[in-house]
Amino acid sequence: ALRKLVAGNWKMNGSLAALAELDAIAAAAAAHPGLDVAICPPFPLIQAAVQRQPALAIGAQDCHTGTSGAHTGDVAAALIADVGGRYAIVGHSERRADHGEDDALVRAKAEAAIAAGLVAIVCVGETEAERDAGRAVAVVEGQLDGSVPPAGTGATLVVAYEPVWAIGTGRTPSAGDVGEMHGAIRARLQTLLGGEGAKVRILYGGSVKPANAAELMAVADVDGALVGGASLTAEQFVPIIAGAA
Ligand code: 13P
Repeated sequence: ALRKLVAGNWKMNGSLAALAELDAIAAAAAAHPGLDVAICPPFPLIQAAVQRQPALAIGAQDCHTGTSGAHTGDVAAALIADVGGRYAIVGHSERRADHGEDDALVRAKAEAAIAAGLVAIVCVGETEAERDAGRAVAVVEGQLDGSVPPAGTGATLVVAYEPVWAIGTGRTPSAGDVGEMHGAIRARLQTLLGGEGAKVRILYGGSVKPANAAELMAVADVDGALVGGASLTAEQFVPIIAGAA
């Protein structure tokens, strides 16, 4: 099995005061050295998060494709790395939906993140209508074909499977459905990346909670979790870390 990664995506939540949650999260990470733990807060909090808990991996929720220039409001991967960030989530379904990001843009962002020395977490996942139509695996395979960087490796790339209908809803796929999808993703990554495709971690995301983390993390080819709401407090996130260990 691959070394698991439990990553928190704070989305548009948090504050300087909320960084106090990182103290117990960092302690839990240190207590479970067999897995990786990361928190991805909003951009303005990244540097303060790194300074508060230097041993805890901090990441961003997006990056631009370029290295610098006239791109008002965007953030370069190199700047994320400069302030101590180690990961960049790219292609989250909320960015694909809210900002019209397509597979080609997501791939370019992943390549920019990797070029800056970050680990890119590329997100994929079907909508409820696509699952109901029996197209979930085909949709995700298509997203992988379009958004996985061809030079990605186990050290530079992570894929997160997040069914859109499971995000923030309290609903999750069955362990069987998660296993089927993660197996299909593993096979596609091996087609796209050769031997490295066996080393890229595949996270599950969507309503991961303390009560379901251990069951989901035990599924074959589930190499960790990408956690939204339950990553905002140590009270919720620490038992998820423990459940993955
Ligand atoms: P929730 O854990 O809040 O369902 O969010 C999942 C997610 O989108 C993480 O990126």
